[in-house]
Amino acid sequence: MTDNLCQGCTLCCRLLEVQEIAKAALEPCRHLGARGGCSIYGERPAACRHFQCVWLYSRTGRPAADALPEGMRPDISHVVLGPRDYRHGGDTLYVHVDPDYPEAWRQGAMRDYLRGLAARGQKLVIFIGGEQVRVAAGGAAAIRGSDAEFARLDR
Ligand code: SF4
Ligand code: SF4
Repeated sequence: MTDNLCQGCTLCCRLLEVQEIAKAALEPCRHLGARGGCSIYGERPAACRHFQCVWLYSRTGRPAADALPEGMRPDISHVVLGPRDYRHGGDTLYVHVDPDYPEAWRQGAMRDYLRGLAARGQKLVIFIGGEQVRVAAGGAAAIRGSDAEFARLDR
């Protein structure tokens, strides 16, 4: 997260794991400030410094036409787009859905955006609480299961 550019959003600080500070996924970071933002901003871990969700990336140094709309800001859409995983020669986009709004990824502009990505060949893994939905490149098939089930398959 980036104080000024994130415009008050801190959803990644709630949903994503940060190993450097032993922060588990889906738990609010203990360093979230009482009035928003990060209370250790100057000393935040490298993972936090380097992370830009796709919404933020689209609005920093890119042509204005590439900017995702305000309504897709993660604290409004309830969905964090990112990070990407390029391991093993692949390109998978991880999508983290606020479990308080489990249908958010299937609604409105977010649904259309994810559909478009899948149609253009982007592999997607969507995390909703303890569940994952894996969408193959092209979007032809979606497999749904618990995190534990996929962890067994991944071994
Ligand atoms: S989810 Fe994106 S916009 Fe929100 S705090 Fe994280 S990087 Fe910033
Ligand atoms: S250390 Fe700061 S930037 Fe990193 S997750 Fe916690 S509150 Fe967010």
